[in-house]
Amino acid sequence: MAYVITEGCLDIMDRSCLDQCPVDCIQQGERMLYINPDDCIDCGACESVCPQGAIFFDEELPADRQRFRDINAGVFALGLEPGADHPVVAAGGHRSTMDRPS
Ligand code: SF4
Repeated sequence: MAYVITEGCLDIMDRSCLDQCPVDCIQQGERMLYINPDDCIDCGACESVCPQGAIFFDEELPADRQRFRDINAGVFALGLEPGADHPVVAAGGHRSTMDRPS
């Protein structure tokens, strides 16, 4: 388990979480920040300082933000460099409306 950054961070990137993380496992993309689930120690420090309420514990992710578990993990699985966004975010596929039936 790990903490997950979700769409509340998009195009805001307050970055308060970066200063709080004791293991430096948060990486900045172009539009949002991402948590490396392999390095996160579940301390919760980032969640408490995020002014957007964008960070959730994995098991407490709201239903419409579940996709961000894979989006956060994917940044590190793909070996993306800092400054790069997950392809789904870059393509706009992160939006909740993508999951709603038309
Ligand atoms: Fe870093 Fe703790 Fe947040 Fe995990 S829960 S990303 S270790 S501040």
